Amino acid sequence: MPKKRNQIEKIVKRIRLLILDVDGVLTDNSLYLNDEGVESKKFNVADGMGIWLAHKAGIKVALISGRVSKAAEFRALDLGIKYVYCGKSDKMRAYEQIKKSLRLKDDQIACMGDDILDIPLLKQVVLPICTKDAHPEAKKFAKLITKAKGGDGAVREVVDMILKAKKKNPLEWLS
Ligand SMILES: [Mg+2]
Repeated sequence: MPKKRNQIEKIVKRIRLLILDVDGVLTDNSLYLNDEGVESKKFNVADGMGIWLAHKAGIKVALISGRVSKAAEFRALDLGIKYVYCGKSDKMRAYEQIKKSLRLKDDQIACMGDDILDIPLLKQVVLPICTKDAHPEAKKFAKLITKAKGGDGAVREVVDMILKAKKKNPLEWLS
């Protein structure tokens, strides 16, 4: 069930790791296939900026995707995301590995998802987030639903909210 923004703010202050699903969160869930069967995806630059800002604020970012995707790996490399798990339909295993290596607890972790594969993760973390256009079953487990759709600035919206709760001013990092 979605919670009120002021309740969310208290939780957000503790967040040290933001886990992102790829398809439907960092993308609009489209896959582009050319005549040779080569797959590509479209990413949002504002989301990329959000990930840069999250790193600047000391928040780690991880990708856990059910699909193997070179495009997602290239995007992660471009954005300096060190924790990338693609082709993981059992997302909990990847989650436990990241949590262990970063020595974090469930109550320091936020996760953004959009479909039923994300439900185990959404149930585990303190701040489960779904995109506006997520599947209704996944949304049942979200404490926060973004105003933006997947691939349309939803990640940036979440990072902006985290930075605000932590009283970080991104403009200070630009000079
Ligand atoms: Mg997805």
